[in-house]
Amino acid sequence: MKYPTVHLHPRKEESLQRLHPWIFSGAIARIEGQPSEGSLVEVRDSRGTSHGFGHYASGSIAVRMLTFEPSTEIDRAFYHKRLSEALRLRLSSHLLRPEGTECPNTCYRLVHGEGDGLPGLIIDVYGSTAVMQAHSLGMHLIRQTLAEVLMEVYQSEGAPIPLEAVYYKSETTLPTQELRELAEDGFLIGHSEAQPVYEHGIRFIPDWLKGQKTGFFIDQRDNRQLVADYASGRRVLNAFCYTGGFSIYALHAGAQQVDSLDSSAKAMYLTEEHVALNFGKDCPRHRSITQDAFEYLEQMPQDAYDLIILDPPAFAKHRKVLRNALMGYRKINTLAFKKVAPGGIVFTFSCSQAVSKEEFRLAVFTAAASSGRRVRILHQLTQPVDHPINIYHPEGEYLKGLVLYVE
Ligand code: SAH
Repeated sequence: MKYPTVHLHPRKEESLQRLHPWIFSGAIARIEGQPSEGSLVEVRDSRGTSHGFGHYASGSIAVRMLTFEPSTEIDRAFYHKRLSEALRLRLSSHLLRPEGTECPNTCYRLVHGEGDGLPGLIIDVYGSTAVMQAHSLGMHLIRQTLAEVLMEVYQSEGAPIPLEAVYYKSETTLPTQELRELAEDGFLIGHSEAQPVYEHGIRFIPDWLKGQKTGFFIDQRDNRQLVADYASGRRVLNAFCYTGGFSIYALHAGAQQVDSLDSSAKAMYLTEEHVALNFGKDCPRHRSITQDAFEYLEQMPQDAYDLIILDPPAFAKHRKVLRNALMGYRKINTLAFKKVAPGGIVFTFSCSQAVSKEEFRLAVFTAAASSGRRVRILHQLTQPVDHPINIYHPEGEYLKGLVLYVE
């Protein structure tokens, strides 16, 4: 026996046969050997047939599957293959467009966990720096190997933007407080300073040292472009703006006025840095508002905006708090529908994995009904191509958005 073995209860292999990568603790009949947290385990059904290998954890998701092939070795070559596949997907989607090309794009997500066959791992790339984030101890334990293999992959695939440094940032994402304290964020390979990157030709400075997630919200790239299509001549409110991504696109597109709003002073500072980077120190078309969004939406005058963007944080991190989350979505959307000027546009999002597309849509529908306005759906939005959804793991579809026309 090469690895400790997890034996499943009868019929609990069915989700594995459908290639779903998680095994919940309740599916396990017994464990042979003593797997340590984050170690590799083999998974066998009640008849003893092997279904592949994964990373073990003692929580509710007990195994995150790396392969469903019992003959696959989980070694350096395995990770090389997975990371090469991830890079090739981004190359084939033309996401790596160096500075000097027509519409440079130098920030993108290289690894999106289950969506790239690497559960528990996120890698976002900013120019020549990769920011790696582990959500499981299994990935944390092999971080140095992953960083080295990543560098090899960029060289062997001849990526148009070479990689020079790998920064590790897991102090907020590892599953327990104890582990988070051991994460030791820092460079695993090389060293780099934060510097401007391009998204659709627009410049931003990601802050991987102190920023949320890996430093920038790459997942709104395509939706920001769509905001640009509607922003010209409009008065825009970007609520929950964080680093101001939507605001910068709206200003570039010729918005008459853009108000960026976030309850965090740090976020407003980052937004102002991005405004200054793109439009100089004093941009008369931009205003920063540091305030609670619920309070602001409640107090703002009627018809002050023609375009309102609502991109709140994940109101529900798990299903237990779903009701509160849906109430939160209903509240902010009702206020936006009530107050937007006639013929106005509302971009509304949910990034809660625990809230389904249907539940979110129902919350927005209820909000529209209680606003008494005539509301029509113009676009239905999701996450971009570098956040692929493993079709066997629907939980991976976390970003949901609607663009609405309010008469
Ligand atoms: N739209 C952003 C990402 C938003 S992240 C982008 O494109 O990058 C969510 C943001 O909501 C965070 O910056 C957080 O500080 C802010 N936030 C959380 N609760 C808030 C509240 N009650 N009022 C205003 N902002 C809030």
